[in-house]
Amino acid sequence: MTMKRILTGDRPTGRLHIGHYVGSLSNRVKLQHEYDTFIEIADIQALTTHFERPELISDSIMQVAIDNLSVGLEPEKVTIYLQSQVPAIAELTIFYSMFVTMNVLRHNPTVKTEAAQYGYDDMTYGFIGYPVSQAADITFCNADLVPVGEDQKPHIELCRKLVRRFNDLYCADAPLIKEPEIMLGEFPRLMGLDGNAKMGKSLGNAIYLSDTPETIKEKVSKAVTDPSRIRATDPGHPEICVVNKYHEVFTTAEHEDICERCKAGTIGCVACKKRLMQSLNDLLDPFREKRAYYEDHLDEVRDIIRSGNARANEVGNANIARIKEAMHLNLGGVQA
Ligand code: ATP
Ligand code: MG
Repeated sequence: MTMKRILTGDRPTGRLHIGHYVGSLSNRVKLQHEYDTFIEIADIQALTTHFERPELISDSIMQVAIDNLSVGLEPEKVTIYLQSQVPAIAELTIFYSMFVTMNVLRHNPTVKTEAAQYGYDDMTYGFIGYPVSQAADITFCNADLVPVGEDQKPHIELCRKLVRRFNDLYCADAPLIKEPEIMLGEFPRLMGLDGNAKMGKSLGNAIYLSDTPETIKEKVSKAVTDPSRIRATDPGHPEICVVNKYHEVFTTAEHEDICERCKAGTIGCVACKKRLMQSLNDLLDPFREKRAYYEDHLDEVRDIIRSGNARANEVGNANIARIKEAMHLNLGGVQA
């Protein structure tokens, strides 16, 4: 029996952060032995917001690959590849764009939130259409499962709609494209250190997987806590504290106890932050070790991406040939 396939990925707009880990990377690592796992480094999608900064994108590609490897993805198990090197994805994006409507894209809640974050009052064709390119990312290889964070939910729903429409239009008797399932992480949306609803690499509020213990100390020390707490013995309000939200995710076993002690004024913000620094370093220490290896073996990382590109093209070219055939894009029946 062939393995089911996972597709997920990241935009190379900077290094990956602990929000990525809890939202998606942890599931990638868990499932890599059960699923044929495709990890896309979405460099074209990065251009939708960063088209004026191509150097940032090219510099981030290796970092994003190393981030994925550092958390425990095994190069002999998974396929890590670059979106721009797989033409089948671009072709499929164009095909879907013929029947997706502008209103559907305009009303996508994640597109709206991101447009507001970037301050766009007029959106480029590429930006408003990025969920369509994401549908092509997922389906060019007929993925079954997509482990992603909560912000991706509307995009997976759109993808499923596009797949149904494609199959109805061109291959109703024998559907060619699979409808993918979403898989959310245990904590599908980690908030920013600044209290923003989402930690994002383009939002300047992230703790990176590559941060050193010193940087962790600096960032966690500055995190906003309950503003009404002046002295360590004042009763706190954990429900409004960012540090507390992080304890829920990273110090899960002690979380309830920390909440009680905060409310009773028996643990101060300084001690509470120290405990969080320890939890984060416990998580990141093994990743740091793997990162150091790959940073010393960059050629190996390049080879991993090169062979990932080849595998993605093999799968994508075979699928796109069937798709074009179904769409009658075959010289009126005469094979090229
Ligand atoms: P950018 O700000 O450039 O869009 P990003 O931080 O949103 O970067 P992406 O590369 O867009 O990261 O997302 C990669 C994956 O990580 C997606 O599955 C996304 O849902 C997930 N993810 C990103 N941020 C978070 C977060 N704060 N909490 C949980 N999951 C997240
Ligand atoms: Mg994003």
